[in-house]
Amino acid sequence: MSLRDKALSYHKNPTPGKVAIVSTKPCETSAELSLAYTPGVAEPVKEIADNPDAVFDYTSRGNLVAVVSNGTAILGLGNRGALASKPVMEGKAVLFKRFADVDVFDIEIDSEDPEEIIRTVKLLEPTFGGINLEDIKAPECFYIEKRLIELCDIPVFHDDQHGTAIIATAGLINAAELAEKKLDSLKVVINGAGAAGISCARMFVAAGVKRENLFMCDSKGLIIESRDDLTDEKREFAQSGPARVLADVIKDADVFAGLSVAGVMSQDMVRSMADRPIIFAMANPDPEISYPDALAAREDIIMATGRSDYPNQINNVLGFPFIFRGALDVRARRISERMKMAASLALAELARQPVTDDVRAAYGGAAFSFGPGYIVPKPFDRRVIEYVSVAVAKTACEEGLAGRPINDWEDYRKKLAE
Ligand code: NAP
Ligand code: MG
Repeated sequence: MSLRDKALSYHKNPTPGKVAIVSTKPCETSAELSLAYTPGVAEPVKEIADNPDAVFDYTSRGNLVAVVSNGTAILGLGNRGALASKPVMEGKAVLFKRFADVDVFDIEIDSEDPEEIIRTVKLLEPTFGGINLEDIKAPECFYIEKRLIELCDIPVFHDDQHGTAIIATAGLINAAELAEKKLDSLKVVINGAGAAGISCARMFVAAGVKRENLFMCDSKGLIIESRDDLTDEKREFAQSGPARVLADVIKDADVFAGLSVAGVMSQDMVRSMADRPIIFAMANPDPEISYPDALAAREDIIMATGRSDYPNQINNVLGFPFIFRGALDVRARRISERMKMAASLALAELARQPVTDDVRAAYGGAAFSFGPGYIVPKPFDRRVIEYVSVAVAKTACEEGLAGRPINDWEDYRKKLAE
């Protein structure tokens, strides 16, 4: 069977789609019926009306995330509309549940008007404990997220921006360590200035990369101040000097982070980089340069891609389920920059730990140890939830962002590991 046939059958059979609602309370007798619904249900209604906080005791709000899209940037497929985004949003629900036991309603909004999307999501706030914005195109995604963070008292997180950035930053920290280079000395080229590229640039700088050493390119080449076609986000990273193309900018760079399109990096470009270059070719499904091609150009590279069939997969699934888990568990009002960085550092730290037997088993007995072929943990490593969720929750508490702070961290860690 082709992948297409397999995928269509997977989605169609035995029931259409990938998610369903499961009731967590018995409703088999007339007594239970009168608790689940009227008249019993009136009691939590009154409690919540008197004390809004009680919603987290009497409803599933505290474990429920909205995965919201308008379908304008679906995977690498472009704008296919809200309806066609539904399989992806259901898929995200599956991953949230599988990796962190977070429940999801997928919300597909048929609008490309940022104000309409902002208003819709804001109106839905009472339903949810958190909002994961997904596959909304740049530059609107920046404004929509910013406004919703201002308006909502629950975490709002555009995963295409920050998920990628958090995992890539973890990878960068470890790759720099292996290359024996300091972050503040790296010359970094980011190719692609969309949702993922801009967020990566911001996080790399937060992690220690010097802004003046960061060179960002889009489809027209290096982003420079004299260009008159720059969005505010691109302008944030504009360099001075003349117009240059990637092949020129990449010379002597220590890091290439590709968040653009397939095939734009040549073997000559790889050869023109500094010693022990770090190459994260993250365009999906086909990277800026393939793993075998990059390695054939030179052997001293530390390489990552978005793909699962080569070492070092930079994949958002290492982030969003666990970040929301931690944020929900302390009822964080938002996901701060420090919480994101805490997630990166936790992932970087976990990759330096010896791999356990269950991880090896999940990957067919393969051996991993910290080094150029293993700079980020594996998604099926059960310790990811302990590392990332604890780090995120703890940081929220330290920053005073937690509505329900945790005191006993050992106990919390144990519960996560169960
Ligand atoms: P996006 O918002 O559409 O941004 C794409 C960016 O790539 C734009 O800035 C665009 O330039 C630029 N670009 C297009 N062709 C280019 C070229 N030939 N040379 C240089 N830049 C070029 O998309 P996104 O959500 O940021 O995603 C970008 C890529 O990263 C996609 O391939 C996506 O699959 C991948 N990605 C991977 C991961 C992962 O975890 N591995 C996560 C997120 C995204 P203009 O601004 O000039 O149009
Ligand atoms: Mg996405």
